[in-house]
Amino acid sequence: MGKKELDWANIGFSYIKTDYRYVSNYKDGKWDDGEITTDANIVMSEDAGVLHYAQECFEGLKAYTTEDGKIVTFRPDLNAKRMVDSAARLEMPQFPEDRFIDAVEKVVKANQDWVPPFGSGATLYIRPVMFATGNVIGVKPADEYQFRIFVTPVGPYFKGGAKPIVVKISDFDRAAPHGTGNIKAGLNYAMSLHAIVTAHEEGFAENVYLDAATRTYIEETGGANIIFVDENGTLVVPKSHSDSILPSITRRSIVYVAENILGMKVEERYVKLEEVSSFKEMGLCGTAAVISPVGKINDHGKEICFASGMDEMGPTIKKLYETLTGIQMGKVEAPAGWIHEIK
Ligand SMILES: *Cc1c(COP(=O)(O)O)cnc(C)c1O
Repeated sequence: MGKKELDWANIGFSYIKTDYRYVSNYKDGKWDDGEITTDANIVMSEDAGVLHYAQECFEGLKAYTTEDGKIVTFRPDLNAKRMVDSAARLEMPQFPEDRFIDAVEKVVKANQDWVPPFGSGATLYIRPVMFATGNVIGVKPADEYQFRIFVTPVGPYFKGGAKPIVVKISDFDRAAPHGTGNIKAGLNYAMSLHAIVTAHEEGFAENVYLDAATRTYIEETGGANIIFVDENGTLVVPKSHSDSILPSITRRSIVYVAENILGMKVEERYVKLEEVSSFKEMGLCGTAAVISPVGKINDHGKEICFASGMDEMGPTIKKLYETLTGIQMGKVEAPAGWIHEIK
């Protein structure tokens, strides 16, 4: 078996069915041993809890090939922990963190011919998902679940360089105060779809959501955390009064890189929409793009333009982006435990 014959640079970001997936089922109060299977379909009852009361959470991470030919993933322990937190909030059983890592290793290894080669810019996207398969009709947690991990190769996020995007301040809310905004649950995305389709129709790449209670503080976008650089070169990272920002692993890694590798000052604090016009640079961070530069925010017709402009990434965000992707690709020495080799 050799690498699959794919045009790696042009596969885009959509589902391509690969050969193997990992499945473990929860029944009678415990997870079974789990196995690698070729069956990409799921058969479940019409009364499964996930279909009615949206008991589902997921994760997203990537495997890729480093320059010296190793297949690695980036901080999968944090995905394992975050999925435990998501499951707890949704009254789902927790999939043990060590078993999560073991399952990631097994499914990536089984599909190693699908891991894009170094230099292609493409990666193998890994999607762990957990959902209620048990029957429920009255509203309550189900008693049976499935944990599954499948993988799909995805193309480079930025083809021909990262171009700044334009985002809008949304009139919709992403997450209620003290609701489920801080966990990775599909339900948060279901309610963001109308908002993102509307934003796209209006010509914007993303929605910036404000805090739902007062609509004065910056929270995040539909699927990425936000970072700013202020006029002193400080990295400013929005915090939520109501715990409704998803704890992005990319954002936490950027904060660490800024403080400990680049020697930058970092402020994690509440950020008012009205102060954003004083900032110099803005970026969106998440696993898929690492950092997407933002050139402009449209606030109900009023434009907030960042000094970095619409042609390229601002200099500070570029430095963060290059350092973090350098760590991921093995060009910059990684902090202990960040790079997890699949052997
Ligand atoms: C997944 C996600 C992010 C990004 O998290 P990463 O761990 O960096 O990929 C940000 N915001 C939301 C709402 C998300 O679901």
